Amino acid sequence: MTPSWIAAVAATMQANRGNLTQLDSDIGDADHGSNMDRGFEAVLGTLPGMADKDIGTILKSVGMTLVSTVGGAGGPLYGTFFLQMGAATTGKLDLSLADWVAALEAGVNGVAMRGKARPGDKTMLDTLMPAVEALKTAAAEGATLPQALHRSAEAAEQGTLATVPLVAHRGRAGYLGERSAGHQDPGATSAHLLLKAAADTWHDAG
Ligand code: ADP
Ligand code: MG
Repeated sequence: MTPSWIAAVAATMQANRGNLTQLDSDIGDADHGSNMDRGFEAVLGTLPGMADKDIGTILKSVGMTLVSTVGGAGGPLYGTFFLQMGAATTGKLDLSLADWVAALEAGVNGVAMRGKARPGDKTMLDTLMPAVEALKTAAAEGATLPQALHRSAEAAEQGTLATVPLVAHRGRAGYLGERSAGHQDPGATSAHLLLKAAADTWHDAG
């Protein structure tokens, strides 16, 4: 299932390339869509060689490919996200809900440590943090994996929409100060796409 998720992420980044670039042209340098699409197209090319690998190895490879093909802030941050997810799933051939919680939490903590953004800084963390919290809450309430991923994707969407009024304090948008308010953050948006792709992939499986 993990390769299916990664392939779904690649497809949604390609489909949303123009949208992400438009958002980044409002408060950045208009490259987030092309960055994400280029990175995941490269990742897609590595998937056939990963068929017999464990999930940790696959996710770490995704992270390394993103680091080496995507520049700017997004590449290293998403690279760290997948490297840390991979480190948390070493040797796994399947992901339970508890595995997902551990993996997503590790990925998000990696982004937070690397980028040093805080909640409300108008970054991808404003999507990722509520998504982890929703996943944990769903797990604690006894949800199934598809249900928990769905709730996490919904929290991610709310987090993304909530970036609109925020003033950016990190990345290129931070240079705009107050003028960054009124625009949805591109990295928050791509993070939602990533988690929505997970919910869609596991929903279709279960
Ligand atoms: P660049 O800003 O170098 O052009 P991208 O356009 O690919 O890189 O990515 C921009 C996105 O990266 C932003 O919308 C924001 O969500 C995210 N971002 C930037 N800096 C940080 C940071 N320090 N921590 C978390 N996310 C960040
Ligand atoms: Mg950019």
